[in-house]
Amino acid sequence: MTKPKVASDWLAGCSGCHMSLLDMDERLLDIIDLVDLRATPITDLKHPDKDGVDVGILEGGINNSANLAVAKMMRERCKILVALGDCAVFGGVPAMRNFFDLDETVRYVYTQTMSMDKEAIVPKDPELAVPQRVQALSEVIKVDVFVPGCPPSPDAIYHVLSELAQGRLPNLTGNLLDWH
Ligand code: SF4
Repeated sequence: MTKPKVASDWLAGCSGCHMSLLDMDERLLDIIDLVDLRATPITDLKHPDKDGVDVGILEGGINNSANLAVAKMMRERCKILVALGDCAVFGGVPAMRNFFDLDETVRYVYTQTMSMDKEAIVPKDPELAVPQRVQALSEVIKVDVFVPGCPPSPDAIYHVLSELAQGRLPNLTGNLLDWH
């Protein structure tokens, strides 16, 4: 049987979901036996090539134009797309900044905090021109499988990957979702 091709990538977040994936420990070997791993953030090949893959896994929310480009590219090149972790599912930790006025926050940091010169001005650095709102993956692309949690449990990730690797849609319930 041909093994499904798999790729993963990360966007705005903390990489903790990929750490949880690695916490599957020896079960990683089961998954590696079932799939053809094509690209991950921690291998030489970072993105799936133009031929695409069967399953794509994305961690993190949409924080900037680079995140958006990667999300769209993954959608185009992955038959089934998995949103891994709360940041991908609903914005999670990076979306906490949505509750603050960023221009005001940056101005405060540069001009009002104790450590700054009161005459300081906000530099005109394009890196500071961040979008006003972090978005969940589902706001910008179609997501096929959601795996919530911060991070999701290694058991939940194992269940999802092993089901998809065997051509089945995973059904996440009970302890797989409530593990903290
Ligand atoms: S869901 Fe949690 S663990 Fe995963 S990237 Fe976001 S903050 Fe990190």
